Amino acid sequence: MSARRYAVIGAGPSGLSAARALQKAGIAFDGYEASRGVGGLWDIENPRSTMYESAHLISSRTTTEFAEFPMRSRADYPSHRELIEYFRAFAERFGLTERFRFDTRVTSLDRDGDGDGWTLRAAPSTRSAAGGPSSGTGSTDSIARRYDGVILANGTLAEPNVPALRGEFTGELLHTSAYKTATQLTGKRVLIIGAGNSGCDIAVDAVHHAASVEMSVRRGYYFVPRYLFGKPSDTLNQGRPCRLPSSSSSTSACCARSPVIRCGSGSPGPTTSSTSRTRSSTRWC
Ligand SMILES: Cc1cc2nc3c(=O)[nH]c(=O)nc-3n(C[C@H](O)[C@H](O)[C@H](O)COP(=O)(O)OP(=O)(O)OC[C@H]3O[C@@H](n4cnc5c(N)ncnc54)[C@H](O)[C@@H]3O)c2cc1C
Repeated sequence: MSARRYAVIGAGPSGLSAARALQKAGIAFDGYEASRGVGGLWDIENPRSTMYESAHLISSRTTTEFAEFPMRSRADYPSHRELIEYFRAFAERFGLTERFRFDTRVTSLDRDGDGDGWTLRAAPSTRSAAGGPSSGTGSTDSIARRYDGVILANGTLAEPNVPALRGEFTGELLHTSAYKTATQLTGKRVLIIGAGNSGCDIAVDAVHHAASVEMSVRRGYYFVPRYLFGKPSDTLNQGRPCRLPSSSSSTSACCARSPVIRCGSGSPGPTTSSTSRTRSSTRWC
C-alpha cells in the first residue's frame, strides 16, 4: 500500500470507478458522499438526482457495465431501479461501501502552501429528502483532513440550466431535473424544448399522459432507435459513432425495423456525433 492518501468526492458511477482504480493500484483513499449511499443520480431519492420513474439505460447494458462485474439483469436497457441495485452490489462486492462516509458534504478544498496536497473540509449533509437510512459510515462532526490528491466525481447534471426565454409565458415551466413521474403531465398541453435523451424519454411519457405533445429543436437531429438489425444500436460498430446514410431510403435504414430518423430543419452534420444523436424507441416525426 502506498503512503499517499487520496480523497474521492462522490459515490456515483464515476466515484466508484475511481475508488476501484485506487484500490487496485494500492493507493489509500477516503470517499465522501453527500447523499445516503452509493449510486449517484441513479438513486432517485438522492436529493441531487435528476432521475425519473420511467428512466431506463440509454446506453445498452453490455456497453455500460463494469467489465469485471457484469450486470445480473438480462435486459438490454435495464431500468434505473436495476441500475441502483447494480451499483450497490458493485460497491459491496469490492468492499467500497465502507470506504465512503455518507451524508457528508465536502464544503471546501484548499491547496497546501507547498502545493503538495489539499486540505479537505466536510460537514454532515442536511438530512436527505427521503429521510432514508444511510448505507455506510455516516458522520456527525465536521472534518478537516489533508490528502495528497483529490478526485472530483461530484457529477455534472445536478444544477439545472434554465435559459431566459423572451416574451411572456404564464403556464408551468418545468426543468427536467424537477420531472419525476408522468402524472405531472396528465391532461396538459406539453411543449418539450430540446430533444436530448431526457427530452425524448419525457416526450414518450407525455404521449401516454398529456393532452397534446409538441417538441421544439433548434437544429436537425438523428433519432437512432434503441435496436438496429435486432441488436442494441450502440453495440454495432464497436460503440463508435458510425457514418449515417444520407437518406433514410438507403439499404441499412431500410433493413432496420425502425430506421434512423432525421428530424428538424437544420443540418445534424454528417455523422451521428454525440451532440446530434438521440437514442429513442418512439418515433416523433
Ligand atoms: C435520466 C438519465 C439517464 C442517463 N442514462 C445514461 C446511460 O444510459 N448511460 C450513461 O453512461 N450515462 C447515463 N446518464 C448520465 C449519468 O450522468 C451517468 O450515468 C452517471 O450517473 C454519472 O456519474 P457520476 O458519478 O459522474 O455523477 P453522479 O451520478 O451525478 O454522482 C455524483 C455524486 O456526487 C455527490 N456529490 C455532489 N457534490 C458533493 C459534495 N460536495 N460532497 C460529497 N458528495 C457530493 C452526489 O450526491 C452524487 O451522489 C444518464 C443520466 C440521466 C439523468
